[in-house]
Parts: sequence; C-alpha cells; structure tokens
Amino acid sequence: MPSPNSSPTPAPTGSRRPPLAVLGAPPAFAEPLHVGRPNIPDRARLLARIESILDRRWLTNDGPLVQELEQTLCRRLGVRHVVAMCNGTTALEIAIRALGLTGEVIVPSFTFVATAHALMWQEITPVFADIEPRRHHLDPAQIERMITPRTTGIIGVHLWGRPCDVAAIEEIGRRRGLKILFDAAHAIGCTDRGRPIGSGGAAEVFSFHATKCVNAFEGGAVATNDDRLADKMRLMRNFGFAGYDNVVYVGINGKMSEVSAAMGLTSLEDLEQVVARNQANFEAYRRAFAEIPGLRLLDEPLGPDDASNYQYVVVQIDERATGLTRDELVAVLKAENVLARRYFYPGCHRMEPYRSRFPQAGLVLPVTERVAAEVLVLPTGTGVSGAEIDRIAGILQAAIERAGEVRAALAL
Ligand SMILES: *Cc1c(COP(=O)(O)O)cnc(C)c1O
Repeated sequence: MPSPNSSPTPAPTGSRRPPLAVLGAPPAFAEPLHVGRPNIPDRARLLARIESILDRRWLTNDGPLVQELEQTLCRRLGVRHVVAMCNGTTALEIAIRALGLTGEVIVPSFTFVATAHALMWQEITPVFADIEPRRHHLDPAQIERMITPRTTGIIGVHLWGRPCDVAAIEEIGRRRGLKILFDAAHAIGCTDRGRPIGSGGAAEVFSFHATKCVNAFEGGAVATNDDRLADKMRLMRNFGFAGYDNVVYVGINGKMSEVSAAMGLTSLEDLEQVVARNQANFEAYRRAFAEIPGLRLLDEPLGPDDASNYQYVVVQIDERATGLTRDELVAVLKAENVLARRYFYPGCHRMEPYRSRFPQAGLVLPVTERVAAEVLVLPTGTGVSGAEIDRIAGILQAAIERAGEVRAALAL
C-alpha cells in the first residue's frame, strides 16, 4: 500500500501557485527581504537635527536632544522618569544593578539572549522559567516553581510587542518580596490595560536598536516612577559622576549620544505611521494564511484595553499539517530571498554559558522547547508591501502543496 507521503501531491492544473526556487526556479525576490529592516524616518527632519548638533558642538553628555527625547518619552509613557542609554542591554544592566538584584533572577529562556546576559554579566544567575503556549510570555505558575531562597527578582519580557501578564508578575513580586523589572525592548507604542507599557514593576527597559520599532541607530532607555532609582541610574550611566570631580558610585559609560537622540526623536515622530503599517501588514498575512493548512499566526486576541505595535509577524508551523518542518520552510523562503528568522531558537538555555551551566534546564521548559522549534518570524515594517506578503504566502502554500518534492530537493 503506498504511503500517503511517498508520492508528492501534483499541483492542480491551471494552478496559479508560483514556481519554487528550491525546485530550480529563479528566486521570487531579486533583493533579500529581511526581518527587522530599519524603518527610516523623515530625512529632512533628521538632518536638520544633526545640523543643530554640529552648530552647538554638544555631541554627547546629557545634551539637549537626549533631554528632549527623555521628556518626550516621559509624556508618551506616562512615567516620571526616562533615562536614555547607549543601548537596551546596557540599560538592562544598569537597571539590574541600580535595583540591587543579586543571587538568582527568574527570566524566560524564550527571549533575546541579552535578557539573560545582562544578569550573567554581573554574576547574577538567570533562572529560566517556562512560557505559556499562546502568547509565549512567562507563565506565572512556572515562575512560582522556580523561586528559591536565593531569588531576588523577576524580569518579565513583553515579547512580540504584546503586554505580558504584568498584574500576575507584580502580585508574585509583592507576595514573595521580589523586585520586578520588565524587558520592554519590543514594546514601545504598546498598551497594557489602557496604559502605555513603561510604568510596570520597579522599571521597564526599552531598546532603540536599528531593528526595533523606534530606533536611535543604537539606543535604549529605562522608564521608572521611582525618583531615587532614576537618580541612581543617571549616576551609573555616567561613571558615577555626581559633579565635575565627585564620583559617588561605581559606574559605566551608558550615555546616549546626541546623534542617536536625533534619530530617536525623529523615529518616534513616525511611530503611529509605522504601527499602522505593521498592523496592515499583519492583517495581510492573516488573510493570506487563513487558507494555508498548518500555519498558525500568533494572533491571540489582545485585551480590550491592550494594544500591540505589531512589530513581529510570528507564525507557528504544525509539521503534521504542512508536511514540512519549520527549518525546511526557512530554507524554502531563503531560496526565494525571503530571510525569515527562527527567533528565539534554540532558547537561551541551549546557548552558552547557560547550556553548560544548566544542562538539565530543558526538562522544566517543555513549552519553550516546542515553541522554539516551531516559530518562524516573517518580514514586516515599512519596507514590506501587501503585494510582497501575498507572494510570500503563495510561496509557502506552493511548498506545502508540493511538500514531498520540496523535502526531497532539500535533502540533496
Ligand atoms: C533588542 C533586545 C534587547 C537588547 O537591546 P539592544 O538595544 O540591542 O542592546 C533586549 N531584550 C530584548 C527582548 C530585545 O529584543
């Protein structure tokens, strides 16, 4: 009896499915389509700001554009303090140190590795807790089981630009006496229960890396309502200088430059437009994927007073329905010049130094392990059009319809 997988399903006659590059056709896209291609804001406004920097000869050290960016963000986020930094990782490190975290801190493994590295860099042990499967955020029940006498804090991550369970994490923090920090690197322009993300926990940390929704070339910031914490972080980002000759803390150079603030301010002015475009792209993917078996878009309904910036288009591959693994579909897309990414494969716990230090970590992270094997992140942002999204969906559909042939070609 022939196995259902042994003979490839022939393409229906008259099919409008595109030919596939993995099967020998030319690639669908002449230029590579990237995930996280920077959104470029208005050039004239950016260049005018840069001219003003040169005219002032004030290039860094808490310059007027850095202060303007901090104040603009304070208003936008509805927080008392925003401390701008040279990047999001340094901002995390400074927030962690200023908060006095030590010992063990609970974090998701399913996040960008900087969340864990910011702890490890200061010899604090990241303890990985599992996520819930529908939104990929820390699962509060899993946080509880990872708490030990050495635990001093929890870092929640607003992964994919959607609010994580802030209320539950804050409640655990209160009940167990733990400090709470949020990694909001994905979450500029997002709303949690009617409030802009930024005022949760003791502090929230943003990234303005080139690939993020708002970019400052490189940049980051910590938002907090705690006056003392904000003062301490301002000292720490500037070598601990409290005055010209007066150092009062061990500090680092975490300052944001004026040229970064110029980009950050200009980029922030475009945020609504970028989010609208991301949302339109997300809807285009949703429509196109509705008819394709085995592609599950991460589109869990947001709460009634929540909002996302739709910065990431995340799809989970059900191999039983597609007949192709996530990695095979990545290869199919790559051949077409669509550079989809496997974020955050394989999970921090399977990267060094964590893999060697905690070889058993995967045992308590079954959801992380499964999700890391299934997730595909697709290109979006202002550089991607609806027509391009339809072509990407057409490629995926054609590959799934011809799964047997595709798998055989990839195995060669
Ligand atoms: C980008 C990112 C960071 C690091 O920010 P940088 O500005 O690149 O240093 C931290 N955490 C998460 C979740 C990120 O995506």
